[in-house]
Amino acid sequence: MLELEAALNQILSAVQPLEHEIVALAGAAGRIAAEPVMSPIDLPAFDNSAMDGYAVRAADLTNACADRPVALRLTGKIAAGEVLSGEVEDGTCVRLFTGSPLPTGADGVVMQEDTRPDQEHPDRIWFSGAVTPWENVRLRGEDVKGGAKLVEAGARIGAGHVALLAAAGVRDVKVGRKPRVAVLATGSELFENGRPLPPGKIYESNRVMLATLLMRVGAVPEIFPLVSDTLEATRFNLEKALTECDAVITSGGVSVGEYDFVKAAFEDLGGTIAFWKISIRPGKPFVFGRAGGRFLFGLPGNPVSALVTFLLLARPALARMQGATELELPKLPGLLTQPLANTGDRRHFMRVAVDESGRVRPAGTQASHILSSLADANGLVDVPPATVMSAGTSVSVLRWEW
Ligand code: AMP
Ligand code: MG
Repeated sequence: MLELEAALNQILSAVQPLEHEIVALAGAAGRIAAEPVMSPIDLPAFDNSAMDGYAVRAADLTNACADRPVALRLTGKIAAGEVLSGEVEDGTCVRLFTGSPLPTGADGVVMQEDTRPDQEHPDRIWFSGAVTPWENVRLRGEDVKGGAKLVEAGARIGAGHVALLAAAGVRDVKVGRKPRVAVLATGSELFENGRPLPPGKIYESNRVMLATLLMRVGAVPEIFPLVSDTLEATRFNLEKALTECDAVITSGGVSVGEYDFVKAAFEDLGGTIAFWKISIRPGKPFVFGRAGGRFLFGLPGNPVSALVTFLLLARPALARMQGATELELPKLPGLLTQPLANTGDRRHFMRVAVDESGRVRPAGTQASHILSSLADANGLVDVPPATVMSAGTSVSVLRWEW
């Protein structure tokens, strides 16, 4: 039985980034940048006004104050988007608006509120205070210098990145391809929802859960029909999945029961089981296999076991396939408000609910078939074997509803 870290290392060393593709900026959020993106221009591209007001030469207003305002001659107006051909000369000013290019000769902007037009001479503006050079001016390149890095290779592109790239004039970006992932649920007891439940059957719930988690990590789920517990059905669906997708995620059928066919079917198809069983709870019978360049993540069928093993072992691999540098979910500090007890001999990833201030409570019953506590939880705490963490203990919470 492998330790979790050893298992994850094996998986990550087997999995390589997929090829790249070019996407338009509008669809780039959530994708992983395949290479650093440099700014083609300075940002701002030209000196411009931060205010509605007047472009001036600061030296003209050195002596201006509320008691002795100074008048300058108004020689023009620049709306945002326009340019002025002339210069601002000594003793003159130009009307500007937020974003208007600063005209040549000016070295400061006085906000409109600190000025008043002369009642009799409309081309004369009174200034009731001095301005320091470059005050209220957004300087060319102060945000980003041309050639500077806008996005690191391997970074997940967010809304802020998209805005920055657009502002720099970038139209599209090279990103890692999204892995297509087959999602198979095995179990002759499983039943599609939408119809009344026959005796002995249960509604299948892992495929939608896994599809949700897959989409969140940027993968494309391909949901397969239910797979009954026979070697033939398992082999048939696995073969199709391995042909069509970059990776296959199965749920169920990886334990020691006589109806557990995932490993056997995978090996029948020429796949190699890299390892089976890891020393965690829930999720012990997890299996990882390779077939050519394709991968099998065989998750146990209990919904909580499936979720925990997906998050700890499959999710980082799918992030790596996209070229991400950050593979793990965030782990944030929290404080237990109630004890968490692990009486077993394996690390127990316990479902917890954590609030905004970091208070952490167990999310109900921890048995791996309990779904209500899964819906209540938003994090996992790794509790070592034979350990009671008392209330008040600082813990690190793996935040999966992030
Ligand atoms: P298995 O890993 O196949 O032994 O399944 C363990 C438990 O999880 C059994 O009680 C199954 O009925 C249940 N189970 C397996 N697959 C699913 C699924 N896709 N949706 C809901 N429950 C499942
Ligand atoms: Mg089963």
